[in-house]
Amino acid sequence: MNLRKKLIAGNWKMNKTAADGVALTADIVAQIGRETSVDVVLCPPFTALESVAHALEGQAIKLGAQNMHPEKSGAYTGEVSAEMLRALFVTHVILGHSERRTYFGETDAFINKKVHAALANQLKPILCVGETLAEREAGSTLAVVQRHVEDGLAGVTKEQLTAVIVAYEPVWAIGTGKVATTAQAQEVHAFIRSLLTKLYGEALAQKVRILYGGSMKPSNAPELLAEKDIDGGLIGGAALEAKSFVELVKAAAAN
Ligand code: PEP
Repeated sequence: MNLRKKLIAGNWKMNKTAADGVALTADIVAQIGRETSVDVVLCPPFTALESVAHALEGQAIKLGAQNMHPEKSGAYTGEVSAEMLRALFVTHVILGHSERRTYFGETDAFINKKVHAALANQLKPILCVGETLAEREAGSTLAVVQRHVEDGLAGVTKEQLTAVIVAYEPVWAIGTGKVATTAQAQEVHAFIRSLLTKLYGEALAQKVRILYGGSMKPSNAPELLAEKDIDGGLIGGAALEAKSFVELVKAAAAN
């Protein structure tokens, strides 16, 4: 029996005004508002969180943010805290996305602080890990993923682990149309689960959801989602339209 409910999260990145976000949300809700066999999370930009929260009132679909700062409050111009997200009914937060690591210089140590701040505020972190093309070609995929997982989760207790979601996102597959093969993805997902087993024991490691992210779309999702250790998807491009996003949720429900 699979202990893990599939999860499909849409990362809208820097797309959609609040009004656009409400329209997209309404469309998604109309089609899968009652779907409860899959956990669904929408992650709009900060500026659309409040409006999308209203559009999700009474629905099973959850609200996520794309980033946050680890401190509670203070002189951090342009940043947003976990407490501020909670006040908008946010339940999940994407942390350590490769775009944050690449364009904003986020380190594993900084991401780890955010993971702790999220957990301390009852937000479920979606911790993104994954190698660049150069790292894959150099044969260091598993070493990079190991560092991202171990450093990202440093100090996270067994009790806290059940709230953590990991997303394996090979950087070379994000927004490029190049999807990892099912075998490539499953290999890394199984490796992540084996790391979690070493760190937290088999029973807890079996409960953690490991999402795949990187050009997942309706045509490749069924095969990926059928793999033993692929528990859902973190979706970029295909989350920007209701039709493709809903198809992904249905593909997850069928698995
Ligand atoms: C992402 O940015 O998390 C992502 C997976 O993007 P895409 O689906 O567009 O590759």
